[in-house]
Amino acid sequence: MNSYLKRAWAEIHLDRLKSNYEKCSKFLRGNTEFLAVVKANAYGHGDTVVAPYLQKLGIKWFAVSNINEAKHLRNCKVNGNILILGYTSGESVCDIADYDIIQTVTGYEHAKELSQACIKENRKIKVHISLDTGMGRIGVRHISAKENADECEKIIKLEGLDVKGMFTHFAVADSDDKGDIEYTNKQRQLIIDTDNELQLRGIKLETVHYLNSAGATYLKDDRSALARYGIMLYGLHPNAYLEMGCELEPVMELKTVVAHIKTISKDDYVSYGRTFKSNGDIKVATLTIGYADGYSRLLSSKAEVLINGKRAKIIGRVCMDQLMVDVTDIDVKVGDVATMFGRDGNDIITADELACIYGTIGYEIVCGISKRVPRVIIDGGKIVEVLE
Ligand SMILES: *Cc1c(COP(=O)(O)O)cnc(C)c1O
Repeated sequence: MNSYLKRAWAEIHLDRLKSNYEKCSKFLRGNTEFLAVVKANAYGHGDTVVAPYLQKLGIKWFAVSNINEAKHLRNCKVNGNILILGYTSGESVCDIADYDIIQTVTGYEHAKELSQACIKENRKIKVHISLDTGMGRIGVRHISAKENADECEKIIKLEGLDVKGMFTHFAVADSDDKGDIEYTNKQRQLIIDTDNELQLRGIKLETVHYLNSAGATYLKDDRSALARYGIMLYGLHPNAYLEMGCELEPVMELKTVVAHIKTISKDDYVSYGRTFKSNGDIKVATLTIGYADGYSRLLSSKAEVLINGKRAKIIGRVCMDQLMVDVTDIDVKVGDVATMFGRDGNDIITADELACIYGTIGYEIVCGISKRVPRVIIDGGKIVEVLE
């Protein structure tokens, strides 16, 4: 066993990433192109491996959250279009221009800030205008398409900005509630109407887009220029309680090892706070993973792990670097692998399943796996790289 496979590690299965990409692509209609959202270190999966791999599969569009993530991608030879989805200050215009990045503008004020910086530095940058059609986060935000188009026109006239596109983001595209579906359709209609209004005024933006994973999967839209796929690419659900319409495989598996085994007796306690008290003789295994690795303390006494194909329940509180499980019914020895989420034998624990236990989403679990956990990249059953 390699040294990085002795404490806690995250396996990243590239063949599953490929298969998820192919399955997600089947939802695309018309001329919609695939955009891979690789913000937050590719949702914790390792952007320096994930993005170049996806590029080799033919993906030409990538999205990140900030300029550092964008530069990171360029530095690992991603040469497709890179869109920064959020605010970047005027101080970064040289980097944006030099690295050929597309920056989002969050409204006229932000556009002016970027424009002034461009004039000062004698640069020109590519931008997409964000339109707030109901997410309430960033973007040009008016009730009518006409007013939206007015503000877009003002932005387009600014010196130093090359407005290449416009996009919006859905708030509830992952819901099957009737009111939510109407809300999403209204959001979609407003960006389409704004685009039409701009075209009436002789302005044709190259790339107008609005689909995220859920939108691309559920909407049957053929007009968005891009489908910005994040979570489904990584094999998780936008909404853990809804079917995705295709079988995706989680790309990440989180594993650790059994470090210590003992038997405790009736009335013995386990871990901080004495929250667990034994009812009788049980066999306890200590695993070398904890909340500092991104395995939440909120899972204390609630979640299960897989050891030798069987489920073992966490007992007592999750510690910073270790946690304890009940292995009374499992044949186990020191050094055996424990799967916190992932597949073992016929059983699987998913990040979505863990998320439901403590009221979050799979997204937060995978991007919360911390830096000290090495990412072990696996392709065709073989380790091809380790990101430490
Ligand atoms: C994160 C993000 C996405 C991807 O969303 P998923 O639900 O992961 O597909 C798409 N668009 C924007 C603007 C985002 O911020």
